[in-house]
Amino acid sequence: MSATLRFTVVSEAFKKRPIEVPAPAERPSEFFAKYVFNREKMHKYLPADVFHKMMDVMDGNATLDLATADTVAESMKRWAMSLGVTHITHWFQPLTEGTAEKHDGFVEHDGKGGMVEEFTGKQLVQQEPDASSFPSGGIRSTFEARGYSAWDPASPVFVIGDTLMIPTVFIAYTGEALDYKAPLKKALHAVDKAATEVAQLFYPDVRKVISNLGWEQEYFLVDESLYVARPDLLMTGRTLMGHDSAKNQQMDDHYFGSIPERVAAFMRDLEIQALELGIPCKTRHNEVAPNQFELAPIFEETNLAVDHNMLMMMLMRKVARKHGFRCLLHEKPFAGVNGSGKHNNWSLSTDTGILLHGPGKTQLDNLRFITFIVETLMAVWKHNGLLKASIVSATNAHRLGANEAPPAIISSFLGKQLSDVLEHLEQTTDDEIALAGKHEMHLDIPQIPELLIDNTDRNRTSPFAFTGNRFEFRAVGSEANCASAMIALNAAVAEALMDFKVRVDALMAAGMEKTKAILKVVREDIRTCKPIHFDGNGYSEEWKQEAARRGLDTEGSCPLVIDRYLDETSIQMFRKTHVFERAELEARNEIKWETYTKKIQIEARIFGDLCLNHIIPVATRYQSALIDNVHKTSQIFPKDVADSLSNKNINLIQQIAGHTTFITENVAKLIEARKVANRIESEREKAIAYHDTVAPLIEAIRYHVDKLELIVDDEIWPLPKYREMLFIR
Ligand code: ADP
Ligand code: MG
Repeated sequence: MSATLRFTVVSEAFKKRPIEVPAPAERPSEFFAKYVFNREKMHKYLPADVFHKMMDVMDGNATLDLATADTVAESMKRWAMSLGVTHITHWFQPLTEGTAEKHDGFVEHDGKGGMVEEFTGKQLVQQEPDASSFPSGGIRSTFEARGYSAWDPASPVFVIGDTLMIPTVFIAYTGEALDYKAPLKKALHAVDKAATEVAQLFYPDVRKVISNLGWEQEYFLVDESLYVARPDLLMTGRTLMGHDSAKNQQMDDHYFGSIPERVAAFMRDLEIQALELGIPCKTRHNEVAPNQFELAPIFEETNLAVDHNMLMMMLMRKVARKHGFRCLLHEKPFAGVNGSGKHNNWSLSTDTGILLHGPGKTQLDNLRFITFIVETLMAVWKHNGLLKASIVSATNAHRLGANEAPPAIISSFLGKQLSDVLEHLEQTTDDEIALAGKHEMHLDIPQIPELLIDNTDRNRTSPFAFTGNRFEFRAVGSEANCASAMIALNAAVAEALMDFKVRVDALMAAGMEKTKAILKVVREDIRTCKPIHFDGNGYSEEWKQEAARRGLDTEGSCPLVIDRYLDETSIQMFRKTHVFERAELEARNEIKWETYTKKIQIEARIFGDLCLNHIIPVATRYQSALIDNVHKTSQIFPKDVADSLSNKNINLIQQIAGHTTFITENVAKLIEARKVANRIESEREKAIAYHDTVAPLIEAIRYHVDKLELIVDDEIWPLPKYREMLFIR
């Protein structure tokens, strides 16, 4: 972009006004889930017997037969056509991180030369998208292209525009999962089964345990015209160059600050649309970095919450464009300011209450609380490397381990009260567990009521923190599909609970009384999983060393962290819980390494191009202007005057020469490093090469580009700067 164009674009961006978002005529409770074929709509549109059948299917107590599917499809069609729908699509979550869809019209030949609107049970239940161009890690070679998508009745269909969207799993012809949803459903089934059996030790009536997820989505907004003027942002989702703005987040004035009008209009629009699609939005606020925000709905059953998060990310991108913004979901769009995460608040509950909720009214409640806490910790301890593997990516790597986000070592924060309880239990042999309840805090401020304080304090540096009635898995990246983390966590917890149950059963079979048996196993486990418990500062250097001493996984290189999926403990765990077979894990790892490589490869290409075609020419032009000035000065003034006048410029000319030389030489090295890496056959080795040789060069060169940005005349600098992109309203 030319310099004049940059100024026009920036000034236009600053002048933009908020788009009016008319207030909805109805209250949220009335338009909530307007575009969702949920239980309420089913009740209205389905014959009574089919409705009851569907309820059983949705609750996981029956499978869908084709006759039922036909009736359901017919009713869905009637409902959807009343909303102007003409197409259907199976909506699935391939391993590329986003969602995919293939649209088909409702139309069929009527046999008389005309058309009828048709939508059959078969179309609802199953499609066969050509799967050859989705990553499969070699499970399905391109000539064997059949993959199936199959409706997940636990996640209701919904309407966007003229299309009926059907959430589906995506599997290979040979049965292996090619997506996130299929294994997630298996992991949720495993944790339901294992947790129900353990919960029945305490409450024999429990029939079902539900895994809950409440995600908190962080994101940045950038004015669209500035976004398109940054090829790096456009192609990679992050700025590959750009000097810190003089002011960024050091004043802490953005967090919880008042929301700018243009952003507020966007948020209102987004929330209305999300509520209409049945996403229970609740919280919104500014985040730490300038132009960074957060959105969080009320927690839901994990499978549905994951779908809603995928849908929400799609909506955010769409609605942002309507408001003249681009929504950046990348974990680190700007260096020097905080990146974005997606805290995953996770808990287990029965039809009667939350299992991680404590302390309870009775001794048994308290023991149940402790059991589920300790077994979760056992899972996190045993699989800490795997849990990290479930959240690493080329993009999240910029955020993890920096002093703003969870460290690259998984540990768990429990807070003072819970830590005391566990310690007490471990050190005593009593059979009594007494836990203090919530205590009241007297504020002594007139007219302000007494507050109930939570039993837990907060620790922002912990990647897996207990927060009163749930664990908050904070290491998840903003762009990620939450399913990845939720598969690993729920499956690992299922395994820990299965293992717990086996040991308790054995003690009881040997004649030990139930409570004593549970306490004995819990005590053992408190001792075993102790290394995972850490309430201190996760950012500190000492912790890194201490964690290594404790045997926790401290690996920081993304391609190597991915190896944890193929550890024997991981393979056994996924097999026991029926989530993945070894071959699937191997294939999925191939995809992960390949994705890592491609991301860095694209960054390296764009970066090299920007350096050679944007930065070097502009820096050289400014350098020539300075040389020209020095030259003319020497012609006009006597030598001693000219020398003193030109001192500063000569120094600048030399600095520019230093930076441009470094950039030119190292971009050549960058290209060479890529070539060498590209020749490597193994996806794993290639990803390692990209991590070790290509990525560091980008960072090293960037330093010099950012220095040039400070030197070169602002009037000819070709790219919108941080201060322009980050403070736009
Ligand atoms: P924070 O104080 O952590 O920023 P937020 O209000 O932004 O909290 O988000 C907390 C999220 O945790 C919400 O989605 C909320 O519904 C969810 N949540 C609350 N209780 C539970 C629970 N028991 N299990 C899972 N998620 C929960
Ligand atoms: Mg939070």
